[in-house]
Amino acid sequence: MKRLYGWGIVRSMFIAYKNLFRKKITVQYPFKKLTLPERARWAVEPIFNEAGETKCTACLICERACPDFIIKIDTHTDEDKTKHIDAWNYDIGACMMCGLCVEACPFDAIQMGHNYELARTDPSTLSIKLLEGVLASKGKQRPAAPANIDKPEEKPAEKGGLDG
Ligand code: SF4
Ligand code: SF4
Repeated sequence: MKRLYGWGIVRSMFIAYKNLFRKKITVQYPFKKLTLPERARWAVEPIFNEAGETKCTACLICERACPDFIIKIDTHTDEDKTKHIDAWNYDIGACMMCGLCVEACPFDAIQMGHNYELARTDPSTLSIKLLEGVLASKGKQRPAAPANIDKPEEKPAEKGGLDG
């Protein structure tokens, strides 16, 4: 169908006029900032307990779960079996904020933060240490895994073998 000459101009003017009365969805950043939805994901952050201690036990599960291989946790264990985190290294520049490390952590020791002002002028500052020189676990006092981890069902012993 052949359109009328100038139809595009009329239509664009109509859309512009309609948008004049729409509720604003932008803010005057950086003077005003939006409140992010609860499930928004930005950089990984450590979680601390009430005493201000890290909940990380240096189990290294998050390191293995990261598809970008950007988590590198350096640890050492003392003679008294206390485990220490020398450095919990993380590269913001390479993180794709997938949240897989947070999902994999059995101790709820990390979370996806809400700080979206992550721009840096110096690229060398993109590699950071989330934790440094902290105690991760004290021998047998290592925190127990959360109760929500599925335990394998106990199966009744099967009859068989020589007695069966
Ligand atoms: S959010 Fe994803 S890419 Fe970033 S550190 Fe965690 S697992 Fe790796
Ligand atoms: S952050 Fe969680 S998964 Fe990663 S080493 Fe610490 S306790 Fe383990």
